[in-house]
Amino acid sequence: MAKIMQCDCGYVVRGETDDELVANVQEHAREVHDMELTREQVLAMAQQEE
Ligand SMILES: [Zn+2]
Repeated sequence: MAKIMQCDCGYVVRGETDDELVANVQEHAREVHDMELTREQVLAMAQQEE
């Protein structure tokens, strides 16, 4: 099932799998916020897509 994560900046990141979501969130965080997030941090903030 797809998962989404809404960033603090309002940007919504989506992934079809945990791996895809983590990769997309890490890329967004790195490029936009200059932050490195761990897989655990990403998954802790993620929600199932409705
Ligand atoms: Zn953001």
